[in-house]
Amino acid sequence: MEHVVPIALLTSALTAAATAAPVKVPFTGVPETYLSFEIEGFAGSWVLQSANADFVRYVSDGFRLDLRLERRGSQTIVHFDLRPEDGQGLRVRSYGAKVVLPQAGLHAVMVPNQHKIARLLDYWGEHHKWPENFPLYRNLTSEEFKQAAPTNAEAPFILITDDRGQNRAAVGWAAAERGTTLEGKVEGSNYVLTLDRREDVPLPPGGGALQDALVFDTTLQPWMTAEEAYARTFDRYNGRKHDPVPAWTSEPVYCTWYCYGDKIDQEGVLKIARKCKELGFGTILIDAGWDCRTGGGYIDWENGILGDYIARPERFPDMPGLVKQIHDMGLRVMLWCAPFWEGKKSIAYRTKTSSWHMRDSEGSEMHELCPRHPEVRKHLFERFAWIAKTYDIDGMWIDAADAVRGVCYADHPHVDRAMGPAFVDCIKAARDGLRSVKPDAATEARVMHANLNTKMAFDMVQPSDAPQSYEILRLAGIHLRPWAYDLHVKNDPMYWTKKTDGATVGKFLATMVCNGVPALSVDYLTAPDEHCRITKAWLAFYREHKDTLLKGKFSLFGADFGSPDMMILGTSEAVVYLKNPATSEVELPRRVNRIILLNCTSSDEVRLKIAHAPARARMTAYNPDWSQAGEPAVLDAGVVSARIPQGGAAIVTAK
Ligand SMILES: [Zn+2]
Repeated sequence: MEHVVPIALLTSALTAAATAAPVKVPFTGVPETYLSFEIEGFAGSWVLQSANADFVRYVSDGFRLDLRLERRGSQTIVHFDLRPEDGQGLRVRSYGAKVVLPQAGLHAVMVPNQHKIARLLDYWGEHHKWPENFPLYRNLTSEEFKQAAPTNAEAPFILITDDRGQNRAAVGWAAAERGTTLEGKVEGSNYVLTLDRREDVPLPPGGGALQDALVFDTTLQPWMTAEEAYARTFDRYNGRKHDPVPAWTSEPVYCTWYCYGDKIDQEGVLKIARKCKELGFGTILIDAGWDCRTGGGYIDWENGILGDYIARPERFPDMPGLVKQIHDMGLRVMLWCAPFWEGKKSIAYRTKTSSWHMRDSEGSEMHELCPRHPEVRKHLFERFAWIAKTYDIDGMWIDAADAVRGVCYADHPHVDRAMGPAFVDCIKAARDGLRSVKPDAATEARVMHANLNTKMAFDMVQPSDAPQSYEILRLAGIHLRPWAYDLHVKNDPMYWTKKTDGATVGKFLATMVCNGVPALSVDYLTAPDEHCRITKAWLAFYREHKDTLLKGKFSLFGADFGSPDMMILGTSEAVVYLKNPATSEVELPRRVNRIILLNCTSSDEVRLKIAHAPARARMTAYNPDWSQAGEPAVLDAGVVSARIPQGGAAIVTAK
């Protein structure tokens, strides 16, 4: 009965629709929401034609708008279907939703936040340090925000929490690959969200009908749970199911970038690969510099040769031979690429692709291949198949695709798809090309171009660059998990200097193993022995507890939801990451055989109570290199009051 729309509400909706363009969603149980459509040749108002508890139909000027309500788990989904009544063409310039939320109980905008965290790189560029106490959320609901969410950057989704990190209101569009602008504004005692969608061509392609759905979730629950539910609905709505991620992609990755930059060569890569094998890595990623000159060739548009994917003979005289040598050590190999970037001196540009580049509104030619050019998809498929065949490579690290703009002004031909879907098609073509030669080849990317729209073309996704800050990487990594639930979440390679103390190195590595597949970019050929020893110990820890770390149930808890503590609950053990010294309780949801506490607080003294700990337990503390620290202690009733070295750990087991 709660779904029945009261007559009075219908009347007011009818009146509002007759005088104003937006349509108020009339269903009960949905936040106050208005839908608007910018339709070519349509200047009229919507008139209510029929309504019941979960369906309404509006008509006007030969168009029909149906709204249908669906309830699914914690979500309420409002589907719309807009179509011409008499077969005439439909061209929608844009459409959007305005959602009015009373401020009471709202506290912080948690999503979208990946862009803001990723752009901390600008802060680092200016200050040469990372900000202190940066929060997990984007802003408080006393403040406004605006975020472009094109297909190559973000999902069309907003989530607001209370002051404990519980979901209060989540709303997102369901249809994939349409550009969206997300906004939040304070209006009196309300927080008003808008989610406006616009593409570079009218929607839908070819006329016909336009459909989408707004997914609401106002259930009080951990925000990550609400976001994952949205991501699953999005995938289901768009008919997406990710094929199984190759098992080898759970292997710890060593990346050449942060310690060597683009100054890499065959001999050096082989040396570090040997050292990595000894330390416990499973994959070597040869980053930028292998197919262009050093000193910035990879971003050189005017004089660069990017786009040919030919290993530089002066530094990599035998790339297939190098890959084979690394394979023979039992390691996998990945190569860096930026598939849309192409230098003007490349063979590809000089002989084939010069007219395929994007142009801006001034007509200037750009660095990027145009995803809407009809040849680009096939070109990428062929190039990536060639790379797989030529180098026997296991995967490609796909970079810089978020530089592709939303609109191309070139007068070359364009496919009859908007930029959003064309962009996803191109990335997918690259992956398909690799896999046409090597069926277990994998692709990896970082946010923003790795996102809910594009993830079907990736196997591993990672945060943006913040190599010297394990805390920024941790916060960024938390934001990946809800939407990347069917992929491997991985770290951006972590990096520290030779002078870094053992406790800090331990914190880097403790954070890393909780943040998905490990990735590091430290020069272990010249690093202090202590750093090598600590790394080796944590990679061994990762291997031993991989099942829990990668497949366990991940949750946030603790004294500060803006910089939370974390828990990963496996079948018989729990890994608990402690960040806040003020956190006094670990709420294990059930009893497990082993509780592993990782101390990433700023204190060696840990005091807390573990719910569901064994009545009598033994606790052994470990140093950052996993050597034992002191004698085991007895725990009564889960009360911990002990010295656990920072960057180290403690294991609690039943006595
Ligand atoms: Zn174009």
